[in-house]
Amino acid sequence: MEKILIIGGGASGMAAAIRAAGREDRSVMVLERQNRVGKKLAATGNGRCNLTNTGAEIRRYHGEDPGFAGSALRRYPPERVLDFFAELGLKTVTEYGGRVFPQSGHAGSVLDVLRLGLERPNITVLTGSTASAIRRRGAGFTVTVGERELEADRLILACGGCAGSRLGGVTDGYALAASLGHGRTALYPALTQLRTAPEYPRALKGIRVDGRVRLLDGEKVLAEAEGDVLFTESGLSGTAVFEISRYAAGKMGLTAELCCFDEPEEALFADLISRRQRWGALEANRILTGAAQSRLGQMLCRYAGISGGTAAGTLTDAQLRALERAMRAMRLTVSGVSGFETAQVTAGGLRTSEFDPESMQSRIVSGLYACGELLDIDGDCGGFNLQWAWASGLLAGELR
Ligand SMILES: Cc1cc2nc3c(=O)[nH]c(=O)nc-3n(C[C@H](O)[C@H](O)[C@H](O)COP(=O)(O)OP(=O)(O)OC[C@H]3O[C@@H](n4cnc5c(N)ncnc54)[C@H](O)[C@@H]3O)c2cc1C
Repeated sequence: MEKILIIGGGASGMAAAIRAAGREDRSVMVLERQNRVGKKLAATGNGRCNLTNTGAEIRRYHGEDPGFAGSALRRYPPERVLDFFAELGLKTVTEYGGRVFPQSGHAGSVLDVLRLGLERPNITVLTGSTASAIRRRGAGFTVTVGERELEADRLILACGGCAGSRLGGVTDGYALAASLGHGRTALYPALTQLRTAPEYPRALKGIRVDGRVRLLDGEKVLAEAEGDVLFTESGLSGTAVFEISRYAAGKMGLTAELCCFDEPEEALFADLISRRQRWGALEANRILTGAAQSRLGQMLCRYAGISGGTAAGTLTDAQLRALERAMRAMRLTVSGVSGFETAQVTAGGLRTSEFDPESMQSRIVSGLYACGELLDIDGDCGGFNLQWAWASGLLAGELR
C-alpha cells in the first residue's frame, strides 16, 4: 500500500483525499488541526456555500502567475466539479452570475457529502491533529503530530491560507513548505471590507445598495465593480467592495466612490427638479423619499450639504446639482482594508513557479504536492476560490 498523507481537511484537502483514495492500493490519511473537517467551508457564502461559478476562467484569478491555474481549471472545470459533487449526492442550483449553491440552501450539505465521500476503508481522518514539522525520509516523509511521527510515501499540503482566521485560517502551510525549501510571495487579505472615514457608513450601518463602487487614486480609477454594497460600522463591505479591495491593500490616500443611482445625470437632475416642485413643503432632507431608503436619502442630502429644517421648495438648482452628484459619486476617504480575520481569501502564497501546474507536484521536492489557497492563486468573489480549491485538490489527488 502506498501511504498518502494530506495536511489540511478543508475544501481542497477533502477533494484531494477522495480523489487519491479512488485507487485501492493507496491508504490515505487526512490530518486536520481543528476538531472538525471543513469548518471554514460551513461558513462560506453566508452559510449557503457558493461552491463554484460556471464562468470560472483564468481572468477571474490573481497571483504572480494566474496562468498557473489553467491546467487544473481545464482538467476540472466547473461542470466536472459539479459532476464530482453530483456523484456524492449533492443537488445544486445555479443563480445570477453563474454562482452555484447547494439546492438545500445550506453550506452544511456540501460538507455532509464530502464527509460521506471520506467514509471509505482506505481513508483515515485525524482531527485535532496539527502537523508541526515535516522531514524527508528516503524518498518519503516523516510528519510530526504532537508526540507522534507519521510516515508517508507522498504528501499533499492543503493547509489553506491565513484569511478567515476566526474560522481556522493559519500560516502553518507556508512554514511547513518553507522547511522543505519552498518560498512564498507577500501575503495580504483579499475579498475584504474597505475601512473608510466612518461618519457616513456608520450612520448607514446595515443598509445595502445595489450600486457601483470605484477605487480612486486621485482621479485615476484603480478598480471598479458593480453589485452589492453594504455600509458597516467602519466602512464598506459587500461583494462589489470585496472585488476592489485587493487593489487597496497596502496603499495610502485612496478614495472609494460609490454610485447608488446608476442613471444619467440629467435624468436624476430632472427628477430632483420635479420633486422640488411636487413636494415643495416637504422637509428638504426628505426630498429623496421613495427613491432611496430614508436613512440613505437623508445621508445623501447631508453629504450634499442639504440639511433638514428648510422646505424642499427652497432648494436651489446648485443644491440639487450637488445632490445629484452625491447620488452618482459619493466619495469616502479609504483608510485601509480589514485584516485577515474578516478577509475571505489570502492573496499571495507559495510560489507557483516552484510547482508543476499539470500535477501540483513540487519541482523542488519530489512526492510533495500543494493545492488550494496555500498557493499563490486567489479568485474573484462569486465561487471562484472554492472552484480553485476543488480543481487543484482533485488534480493533486491524482498524484501524477
Ligand atoms: C467567511 C468566508 C466565506 C467564504 N465564502 C466563499 C464562497 O462562498 N465561495 C468561495 O468560492 N469561496 C469562499 N471563501 C473562500 C474559501 O472558503 C477558501 O478559498 C477555501 O476554503 C480554500 O480551501 P483550502 O482547502 O485551500 O483551505 P481551507 O478550506 O482553509 O482548509 C485548510 C485546512 O487546513 C487545516 N490546517 C491548517 N494548518 C494545518 C496543520 N498544520 N495541520 C493540520 N491541519 C491544518 C485548517 O484547519 C483548515 O481546515 C470564503 C472564505 C471565508 C473565510
